[in-house]
Amino acid sequence: MSPAPSTQPAPSLDVPSARRFIEETWDRSIVPTLVEYVKIPNKSPAFDRDWKRNGHMDRAVELIAAWCRARPIQGLKLEVVRLKNEKGEERTPVIFMEIPGRDSNDTVLLYGHLDKQPEMTGWSDGLGPWIPVLRDDKLYGRGGADDGYAAFGSLAAIEALERQGARRARCVVLIEGCEESGSFDLPAYVDHLAPRIGTPSLVVCLDSGCGNYEQLWGTTSLRGLVGGDLSVEVLTEGVHSGDASGIVASSFRILRQLLARVDDPATGAVVRDFHVQIPADRLAQAKVVAEVLGDEIHSKFPFVPGMRPMHTDLVELVLNRTWRPALSIVGMDGIPPTASAGNVLRPRTVARLSLRVPPTMDAPGAAKRLKQLLEADPPYGARVRFDYEKSGSGWNAPAMAAWLENAVGAASRDFFGKPAVYNGEGGSIPFMGMLGEKFPAAQFLITGLLGPGSNAHGPNEFLHIPTGKRLTGAVAGVLSAHAAARGA
Ligand SMILES: [Zn+2]
Repeated sequence: MSPAPSTQPAPSLDVPSARRFIEETWDRSIVPTLVEYVKIPNKSPAFDRDWKRNGHMDRAVELIAAWCRARPIQGLKLEVVRLKNEKGEERTPVIFMEIPGRDSNDTVLLYGHLDKQPEMTGWSDGLGPWIPVLRDDKLYGRGGADDGYAAFGSLAAIEALERQGARRARCVVLIEGCEESGSFDLPAYVDHLAPRIGTPSLVVCLDSGCGNYEQLWGTTSLRGLVGGDLSVEVLTEGVHSGDASGIVASSFRILRQLLARVDDPATGAVVRDFHVQIPADRLAQAKVVAEVLGDEIHSKFPFVPGMRPMHTDLVELVLNRTWRPALSIVGMDGIPPTASAGNVLRPRTVARLSLRVPPTMDAPGAAKRLKQLLEADPPYGARVRFDYEKSGSGWNAPAMAAWLENAVGAASRDFFGKPAVYNGEGGSIPFMGMLGEKFPAAQFLITGLLGPGSNAHGPNEFLHIPTGKRLTGAVAGVLSAHAAARGA
């Protein structure tokens, strides 16, 4: 759908003064508040079943809500919405903000989340998930870049427009508390808030990645995710491995055999069942990304000395990460730590599988297929089960309207001094698929601070503060251009 032509030019954003305001706001107010935010261990409900009683989630909500409420934005309404699930238990809260538009009811939806990934091990000396450390333009700690800054960045961008009297559409900001658990509470909130959300013509999501810290990156696709536990049982109890090995098959070896049905141990290539045809425009974008980033595509990872990436062709690496399936084993049970390992033929091995699937693949269907593949014809008649829980489909952006492409390009040049680049992301943001279905006519700007080394979900996560400032400016620029293009 092309936007209605504008009858008169909207006052455009004054970039230098917006930049000044945004830098000051980050330095004086956003960074100090994010420092407090990092200290709160408000893990997503999947990693803190007792989140309600522990109260960390509510502390995080209060911190962010208090900051947002204090913004001098005319007509800003903020509500912490709390719904209950079918069992009468409290769902994770949502911060919902409405900011009326100056002359239109056209809506922009800005999205972020405030729940965090768990601690993870391997943090460097002096750093830790709940210890905010400011060092070299970076704020270290869990959840700053993923995705605590989103509420602050969204409102600072709106405030920058407000101060200049620049036009923008009506904005709604939705900050959820369940993203890192697959957003299972979110659909209920989207239904509940539907009349207040309206029909957004633009969705801005600040929970994604950037290929470098030098320009604005637009995310054009996200992979889906199928997760579950593969359990292999061979005995009812452990026995002496000297006695049984050679007679009783190792559950670990059977597990290896089963996993080889999914991916090739030598190359990592996943079987055909989990591939899709990669669209031509995404192939072309992957080539641009390979040119812009070069070796940074792999050198950003903390490889041990001597370790090489999975492919020498950079375009192949980009495609592997964004449009091809890949299997990771993210947890195991039934295996003692090495320090207490006796020579026992263990009764069972359980592996938590995480299969990233291509953006356009139906993830629940892929989960079913994976179960069939793993459970069929178990070696030696072993008891094999695959229980899947999480399966979230990915997302492929709709074709970008010319006005948005121009707006994103201009915002990148204005605030970063370089052109914008479009890339797929290897991770998932479940809400995007949901929104794409609910608002098929909406345009999307999905971007974020998760760039080289920022290591969301891992140790030493950081937020690159200069990029946070520039990104906030770019959001203001795009909101202003959206108003102009839509004749707001
Ligand atoms: Zn996130």
